[in-house]
Amino acid sequence: MRQYLLPQGGQFYKVNMHSHSNLSDGKQTPEEIKEAYKAHGYAAVAFTEHEGLFDLSHLTDDEFIAITSYEYSFGNPNNPPFVFYEGKVHTFDHNEQVHLNFYAKDPHNTKMVCYNPKRVWGNTRNYLDQFEWVGEPDYERVFTVECMNEVIKTARENGFLVAYNHPTWSLNTYPTYSRFENLSAFEIANGGADKGSDLDYTPYVYDQMARTGQRMICVGGDDNHNVGGFFLAWTMIKADKLGYAELIDGLEKGNCYASMGPEIYDLYVEDGKVTVKCSDAVGIYYGSAGRHTGCKLANADNPVVNEATFTIKPEDFYFRISVKDKDGKHANTRIYYLDEFGKDTLVEIVSNVKQAGTLKPEIADALLSAIENTEEQDGYDLSLLYQRAVELLK
Ligand SMILES: [Zn+2]
Ligand SMILES: [Zn+2]
Repeated sequence: MRQYLLPQGGQFYKVNMHSHSNLSDGKQTPEEIKEAYKAHGYAAVAFTEHEGLFDLSHLTDDEFIAITSYEYSFGNPNNPPFVFYEGKVHTFDHNEQVHLNFYAKDPHNTKMVCYNPKRVWGNTRNYLDQFEWVGEPDYERVFTVECMNEVIKTARENGFLVAYNHPTWSLNTYPTYSRFENLSAFEIANGGADKGSDLDYTPYVYDQMARTGQRMICVGGDDNHNVGGFFLAWTMIKADKLGYAELIDGLEKGNCYASMGPEIYDLYVEDGKVTVKCSDAVGIYYGSAGRHTGCKLANADNPVVNEATFTIKPEDFYFRISVKDKDGKHANTRIYYLDEFGKDTLVEIVSNVKQAGTLKPEIADALLSAIENTEEQDGYDLSLLYQRAVELLK
C-alpha cells in the first residue's frame, strides 16, 4: 500500500518564512520585498519583524500571500555568560540569544503575546502606539528555558505557530534547545546567518532535538535584512490552492520541506520502504533517530541521482530525508514518526525488515503481534509497542 508523505495532489508553494523590512531593521519596504520575491517565483513571505506584529494583508493578492508574523527574542546581556553551559569559559563574548518566529494562523491576529513595550527597539518603536497585545503590557522576559517555554505555550494558545530560529547565530547549546516544549517548527536553514558563517544550516540540531522527543516540522527562511540576503533558504508548502489558510494548514500538517537548492517532488512509503524523487542531486540520505546509514550517491557512471528508496528501520522510531545538489545545497524533509502511519503501513515496515533479516525474527514477530493487538484508534506509540514486544518475548 502506497502512503504519500507529501500529498499527491495540490501544488508546492515557495515561501520565505523569515524576513525583515524597514518596519524593523531591514533596508527594504514590505512592498519592495514582495515585488522581489514574487518576481523570483515565491508565493508568500512571512514578515517577521523584530518585536512588531503588523497586519500586511493589503500586500496579499491572487498570487502572493503576506504571512502575519513577528520575531520574539530573548537576549542575555544582563546575565553572566554561559547561563546553561557548564564547561570551561572560553570567551566572554557569549551573548547567548534565543529567537522565535511567531506565525499568526489568522492573518488579522495582531495581538502580541507576553508583550512589553520596553523590549521594542529600533524602527519598530515608531509603531508603538498601534500595537495590540494579550493581557498586560508588562511581561518580564528572563533568560531561562522555563520563561521561553511559557512564551512558546502562550503564543500557541493565542493562535500562533512557533519556530525556533538560527541556533548557531544565537550561540545556543544542547542544554538550551534540548528542553524546549511545544515548538511547531525548527528553522533548519537560515539563509542570512548561514551565508556569513556557513553554520546556520543545522540538521544536526534538528536531530538532537528530535532525539529528546520534540516533534516539529523544519522550515527554511532568508532572515533577509537587505538584497544580499534574498533567495537563500525557503520552505516549500504543498496545498490545494494558494491561500493564507491553506499555507498554514500545510505547515500544521507538515506537508512541507525546507530547501536551499534542491526540489523534492515526491515522497512516499510503500512495502516498508520510503521513496524520494527529487531534482538533480549528488546524494540522497536517509536519517533516523539511530545512526544515519542510508544514502544513494552519484558516481562516475551515474553523475546525477533523482530517486532513492530506503528500507525504514522500525527500531529507529522516525526518519527524515535530505538531498544534496552539486553546489552543496540541501533540501530537508521534516521528521516522520512511524506512529503517524496506520496499521497496514507499520505491518509492512516490520515485515520488510523481518524478510530482509535486518531485524531479529523473534523481535519482528513480537512487534507484529504487538501491532496486531493494538487498536488503530488508540494510535501506535512505538515505545509502547516495543515494551509490549519485549513482554511478549519474555
Ligand atoms: Zn533572529
Ligand atoms: Zn530575523
